[in-house]
Amino acid sequence: MTKDLVARYLQEYAEHFGLDLRLGHRVRRIARSDRGPWEIETSAGTWHSQVVVVATGHYNRPRTPSWPGRDDFAGRILHSADYATGSAFAELRTLVVGLGNTGAEIATDLVEQGAAHVAISVRTPPPIMPRDLLGFIPVQLLGLAFAPIPAPRAIDAVGVALRRVAVGDLSKHGLSKAGWGPFTARRPPVIDVGFLRELKAGRIEVRPALARLAPSGAVFEDGTEDAYDAIIAATGFDTGLGELLDLPDAVDEHGLPRSPSGRPTAYPGLYFIGFDERPSGHLHQAKAESRRVATLIARYFEADAPSDPEAGMAAPRAAGFV
Ligand SMILES: Cc1cc2nc3c(=O)[nH]c(=O)nc-3n(C[C@H](O)[C@H](O)[C@H](O)COP(=O)(O)OP(=O)(O)OC[C@H]3O[C@@H](n4cnc5c(N)ncnc54)[C@H](O)[C@@H]3O)c2cc1C
Repeated sequence: MTKDLVARYLQEYAEHFGLDLRLGHRVRRIARSDRGPWEIETSAGTWHSQVVVVATGHYNRPRTPSWPGRDDFAGRILHSADYATGSAFAELRTLVVGLGNTGAEIATDLVEQGAAHVAISVRTPPPIMPRDLLGFIPVQLLGLAFAPIPAPRAIDAVGVALRRVAVGDLSKHGLSKAGWGPFTARRPPVIDVGFLRELKAGRIEVRPALARLAPSGAVFEDGTEDAYDAIIAATGFDTGLGELLDLPDAVDEHGLPRSPSGRPTAYPGLYFIGFDERPSGHLHQAKAESRRVATLIARYFEADAPSDPEAGMAAPRAAGFV
């Protein structure tokens, strides 16, 4: 699906259900309150609500490592979040740091848009699957079919065998075998939409983990150095939840909620959606989580959710806003 179709779906969804959206208001802080039970500080004032559903995205804040020598690098450094099109890098020597779905797609785009050279720095090789097995079976369907089976190691072993056939040996292109399996690590694999074609054609060069930056390029962990005009950090995102939630112990050391998405939390009236990754795909997962949260909220209101007649909004509306 294209991004425009996804955006249209969201728009139509909001219209269909008559959702009361308050766009353009940033939530700065969520805390417990004697008046709510939730106090939500936003760029448009403070709100009180009986229920808060935090769905601010797993990929909320761009994370760029503080590589030594970064200030000395004479070229351009940007995070993948600021990357729009490879045409801005035509004729340039480029290095993408990180081989996840984002890094793979950006490296492919850079080749297609005429970069002079495209390298990708890989710390741990990921499992890479073609988007369509045998050219017509969407690989994500396999993820969905296997998801309920409680034998992640066995399923990952099947995945290794499938990749051997569908992808082949990538070691001669600089990628050794995958360092993790999607079902044991509970992460989606890299879904190939052109990366393998460019890698196998020698138009993308695999380099080791990045150690530091030099004025004219990058130094890798094996001690080799190369010249680059631009470095694109496809190094992931943080949730930003640690700063958003003024609640002790709600978030772990990775910035993830301690309670699984779609499940009850230690705080009555607080729920999360969209923070658990699964090989079956984030959107698919979020759909199941949202149904569970809707049920939990209904039960919460049926029980004795605290109410506050002085609060600015009725509870269900406030929940919808957040
Ligand atoms: C390059 C890329 C490709 C992807 N491809 C797929 C795919 O093919 N399939 C798939 O299932 N998933 C994919 N994902 C994962 C994708 O991010 C999720 O599936 C989906 O966007 C998650 O939806 P979400 O609503 O949880 O979070 P988001 O889409 O991130 O939405 C969060 C919303 O919360 C808002 N927000 C955040 N903080 C605040 C705040 N403090 N106050 C107010 N509003 C706030 C944001 O503005 C945003 O509108 C991809 C991700 C990336 C980065």
